[in-house]
Amino acid sequence: MSRITDIIHSVPVDPLTGSISVPVYQTSTFVQEAPGVHKGYDYARSNNPTRKALEDIIAKLEGGDNAFAFATGLAAIDAVAKLLSSGDEIIAVDDIYGGAYRLFTHIYEKLGIKIHYVDTTDAENILEFINEKTKFIWIESPTNPTLKVTDIQKVSEIAKPFGALVVVDNTFASPVAQLPFELGADIIIHSATKYIAGHSDLVAGLVVTKTPELSEKIKFIQNATGGILGPWDCFLAIRGIETLELRVRQQSENASKIAEYLTTRQEIDKVYYPGLTTHKNHEIAKRQQNGLFGGVISFSLKEDTVEAANQFVTSTNYFKLAESLGGVKSLLCHPAQMTHASIPREKRLSSGVQDSLIRLSCGIEDVEDLIKDIENALGTLKLEVKGQKLEAQ
Ligand SMILES: *Cc1c(COP(=O)(O)O)cnc(C)c1O
Repeated sequence: MSRITDIIHSVPVDPLTGSISVPVYQTSTFVQEAPGVHKGYDYARSNNPTRKALEDIIAKLEGGDNAFAFATGLAAIDAVAKLLSSGDEIIAVDDIYGGAYRLFTHIYEKLGIKIHYVDTTDAENILEFINEKTKFIWIESPTNPTLKVTDIQKVSEIAKPFGALVVVDNTFASPVAQLPFELGADIIIHSATKYIAGHSDLVAGLVVTKTPELSEKIKFIQNATGGILGPWDCFLAIRGIETLELRVRQQSENASKIAEYLTTRQEIDKVYYPGLTTHKNHEIAKRQQNGLFGGVISFSLKEDTVEAANQFVTSTNYFKLAESLGGVKSLLCHPAQMTHASIPREKRLSSGVQDSLIRLSCGIEDVEDLIKDIENALGTLKLEVKGQKLEAQ
């Protein structure tokens, strides 16, 4: 069976009524025949049939044992972090999602968890920090926003002898492009807000577990801490998944063409996209991402200033200025002032997030329209390059 057929038919027909779409079970509780005698559902924090459908679908797509839906991606990250105890250590990719950095630094460090931020684009860099206290190696690949790629298989090989779990935030690649369990990961996280739901109409998070042992632990945390996803949002996420493959393919195709175009423009300094052969880990991305390089591109301007970035991001028409990514409509953002504003400037610069860095999330629009949009916005920049006045091309 092809992947697209598999995805569409992973959405179950309702066993009770035959409803072809998953019903929204908008209920807080379930009637029991006798105390403890019920149909598998007793209270909606513990379980809900709409949520279970979403959780089963994502577990199947990622090839995991089970999955758990949370109110947001950060709630999913938080649930995984709650597996740790004081004294434990995490090795995390250095340009980790800003919200995860904030959570680790301002909440978990206080509770006695030590976090080492490491450039994992060379997996061997982990060896300097890994020890018997290391419980997680926390990878995003590609990362946000500089699209760094880490060899997940190599990281898994390094982690195993130390008994460290490999956690992969698979938000950017989506299960269409990347299957971390096949590369040795133990836990997968999604901000389902992005590609999974895909329509910029909800926030949601998912944790997928490889083993029954991990499933049991995350299930306990989900129920004990209660940050679950409500049934309506589960329904919308399921509806999004039905077109996940189509969307991610189109977004990747659009992004590949736009990235190539950006490299031809003299206003632009660096272009970050794993699909470019000049990308440091292009070959790894090609191998582990199923030939799909994703819909997100970042680039910096020759005039590396916040002002120049502001000029660009306020001059596009189709690319709307907004946080988030992965939706059918194209978005753009300025990480230094938006998604990465909570990261100190020094740290931000050292992980490659320059002052002028702009992140594009390519939607499913016609790519020629998107390129025209970028061309127009670049035309509003008047740059001095090496003493030469550059007018719009
Ligand atoms: C957005 C995002 C998150 C956080 O998800 P929310 O749904 O916004 O809480 C985590 N990781 C990555 C890579 C993200 O892009």
